[in-house]
Amino acid sequence: MTAAEEKAINIVYDVVVIGAGLAGSMSAYLLAEAGQSVCVIEKSRGSGGRCGNQRIDDQVRVDMGSPYIHTKHPDTIQVLDQLVSANIALHWSQQDKGTTKTYIGSPSLTAICRHLVQSSRLLTNTRAHHLELDHTKQVWRIRDSHFQLITQCKKVILCIPAPQAAALLAATQGTEDLWVTANQASKHSTSQWVLWLETAHSDLKSIICPDHPVIECMIKDNQKLSHKGTSCDRWVIHSRSDWASLNLDKSKEHIAEELIKGFCEDTGLELIRHGSPHRWLFSRFLPNPSDTPFKWNEELNIGLAGDWLSSGDTEGALLSAHQLAKKIRSTL
Ligand SMILES: Cc1cc2nc3c(=O)[nH]c(=O)nc-3n(C[C@H](O)[C@H](O)[C@H](O)COP(=O)(O)OP(=O)(O)OC[C@H]3O[C@@H](n4cnc5c(N)ncnc54)[C@H](O)[C@@H]3O)c2cc1C
Repeated sequence: MTAAEEKAINIVYDVVVIGAGLAGSMSAYLLAEAGQSVCVIEKSRGSGGRCGNQRIDDQVRVDMGSPYIHTKHPDTIQVLDQLVSANIALHWSQQDKGTTKTYIGSPSLTAICRHLVQSSRLLTNTRAHHLELDHTKQVWRIRDSHFQLITQCKKVILCIPAPQAAALLAATQGTEDLWVTANQASKHSTSQWVLWLETAHSDLKSIICPDHPVIECMIKDNQKLSHKGTSCDRWVIHSRSDWASLNLDKSKEHIAEELIKGFCEDTGLELIRHGSPHRWLFSRFLPNPSDTPFKWNEELNIGLAGDWLSSGDTEGALLSAHQLAKKIRSTL
């Protein structure tokens, strides 16, 4: 057990946030800003979630999830503009559409999540497997898959994709209303394969969405402001979700071959090298039609935030967290 893990067990945090994607990081940031002690539990090696990246070498990383954050909501623009001033995010104004602004991370989107969780304790490589409420003490205990205690808190927020939230809530007494919401949303997820590849420089547009049976879009990652000045073009290819759902269990070699073939056919460019494809089992969720983009059970002090409770995208993840944090702050 690391010193950080040992310390986390002995503290009762005001809030534990499960999941360090955009929604979890934003919730942690806003609640820590309100004076709450916050612990963030993340099953992966670092924060970012579906804004994750792949390391190509010591210097270079490419965004393998969402390529950017598109937002027009004043609350999210305000936080992102602050991050631009702190050199954590960049405004990619060439991709703005009307009042919708486009932000990227510097050097990649995970930098935004890393920054937002800075004032919280972050436990990585730690999967929350069990939630248990001690009614007498009004304390939540978060346990791992061996039923070992990870940490304890007064309030718990799940900022994880709907199917993972439903699985965690299924065994948590008294949270049926939250489970129903998560279980419903789980039915509306899509999958995607993503691959990076390099070609010689070309003057093709930075974002191309071809009419192609395999490819949904191709992003010239090195055209992002933070990645300029490379010796070649580095593209990130996102598969179509209908094609991905038919090819979920195919070998990575097969997936890479199909995506490269589609890319070369569509662009006429020649491949220099490519990476290993990444499979996102839950890449996107349908927008949630409800007016409230979060769930909060006031009696038990447990809530849900994430893209799937809102518009199903990066803006939705941030807004969901923002609204839930506002609700919790109003009760402090
Ligand atoms: C390929 C791809 C392309 C996309 N393109 C766009 C786009 O163009 N525009 C756009 O706006 N959005 C896009 N998105 C969607 C966008 O990335 C998501 O909407 C957003 O990042 C979701 O953030 P979140 O915090 O709600 O969830 P997530 O990012 O999924 O964060 C959840 C976190 O919880 C962790 N976790 C899960 N279970 C547990 C557990 N039991 N214990 C501990 N940790 C756990 C996960 O590891 C993860 O880090 C794309 C996504 C993908 C994958």
